[in-house]
Amino acid sequence: MFETRESTTAAMGFARHGFAPLAGELAEAVVDHDAVAANVRTLRTAAGTGLMAVVKADAFGHGAVPVARTCLAAGATWLGVTRIGEALELRHAGIDAPTLAWLFDPARAAEAVAAGVDLSVSSPADLAAVARVAGAPRVHLKLDTGLHRSGCPGEDWSRLVTTAADLERASRIRVVGVWSHLSHGGEPDAVATHRQLLMFRVSVDLARTAGLRPDVVHLANTAAVQANARHTAYDLVRVGAGLYGIGEGLRPALALRSQVVQVRQVAAGRGVGYDHVGRTTRETQLALVPLGFADGVPRAATGRASVWVGGRRVPLIGRVCMDQVVADIGPEPVAVGTEVIVLGPGGRGEPTARDWATWAGTNEHEIYTGIGARVARRHVGTTGVADASRSGREQP
Ligand SMILES: *Cc1c(COP(=O)(O)O)cnc(C)c1O
Repeated sequence: MFETRESTTAAMGFARHGFAPLAGELAEAVVDHDAVAANVRTLRTAAGTGLMAVVKADAFGHGAVPVARTCLAAGATWLGVTRIGEALELRHAGIDAPTLAWLFDPARAAEAVAAGVDLSVSSPADLAAVARVAGAPRVHLKLDTGLHRSGCPGEDWSRLVTTAADLERASRIRVVGVWSHLSHGGEPDAVATHRQLLMFRVSVDLARTAGLRPDVVHLANTAAVQANARHTAYDLVRVGAGLYGIGEGLRPALALRSQVVQVRQVAAGRGVGYDHVGRTTRETQLALVPLGFADGVPRAATGRASVWVGGRRVPLIGRVCMDQVVADIGPEPVAVGTEVIVLGPGGRGEPTARDWATWAGTNEHEIYTGIGARVARRHVGTTGVADASRSGREQP
C-alpha cells in the first residue's frame, strides 16, 4: 500500500539539509519539512479523503506553526489541536485554515470563536455554554463510541443532537462536524473496532435525522488510515503521528543532534556518574554530550541507550542526567566538537525514535513530545516554509 521508495530515502532530506556545524548551539532538533510533506501526501492518498493535520503539543515537538504551514501546502485541509491556546498560536501566525480544538474550558470559548476556531462539544452543558457566545460558534459534536475517554456517552447522544439542531435553527451555533475517536485504530478486526464503527454509523444517522447537516464526519487517526481506511475515512482523517513518521512506510521528520564538549581518558573499573551506576570495563575515553532528560533524553533508557558519535554507534555509560550524558567512546581519538546524533531517521545507523522508545519502555510519541523547549528547532526542506530558519522557542 505504501511506496517503499519513501522509506529507502528516509535520510535524504537530512543528508541534503542537516548536519552543518552547530554554530553556537549545544544541541538542535532538525525538522525536515520534505519528510512531513511526503507523509501528508502518502496518508492523504491512503485515506482518499480530506486530511486534518493534528499539530497538538507543538506538532509533537516539531514546531506547530511551521509544520502546519507545510501540511497545508502539501494538501492538508484542516488543522487539529487539543487546546484553545494552541489554536490561537496558529491564528496569531496568520494561519486561517479551518481549525478544531477539542479540550478546553468553556470560559475561553469566546476567544476561540472570535478567532474563528471550531470547538468540540461532548455534553449538553458544554453546548449550552458555547451557544451563549455570540457569533454562531462552529461546533463539532463528539460521541464516545467506546474509547471511554471523552465524548458524549451513547445514552445522551439523542438529547445532544436534538438540542444542537434546535440551537442551529435559532442561528445560535453551526454544527460543522460529527466525530469520534477509535480505541484500536490499527486493528480493523478487533471486536472493539466493530462495535465503535457500528455505533458511529448509527449515531451519525441519528444526527441527520435530528436535522443536522455536518460538513465533516471524522473518525480515523493515523493507525486507522493505515490499517482500515476503507471503513474509517469518512470526510476527513485526523492524522498526528503519521505526519512525524510514526507508522509503516513513513519518513521520520526530526533529528536530535549535539556535539562532544569534553573527552577524558579513564582507567578500567571506574564508576561513572551518579551512584556509579555505570562502570568502565577497560581503559577507555568518555565523551561528554550536553543533553539530558530535561532535553528529552529519557532517564529510563539508562544502561540501554547508545548514540552516534562521529559516524559510529557507542553506548552511553552511567545514568542519564538532567543536562548531560556520557558516552563510552573507546580508545580511538575523538575531537571536541565532533557531531553526536542522539536520534535520527535511522538511514545511517544512528538511533531512531523507535530505539529510544524501546530503551525507555514508551512510544515514539512520548520521545518526540519530550524534546525540551531549550533545544533549538531548525527547519529544513522547502515545502510550506517561506524562510527555512532557526525557531527555538526561546526566541519569539
Ligand atoms: C492525537 C489525536 C489524533 C491523532 O492521532 P494519531 O494517532 O497521532 O494520528 C486524532 N484525534 C484525537 C482526538 C487525538 O487526540
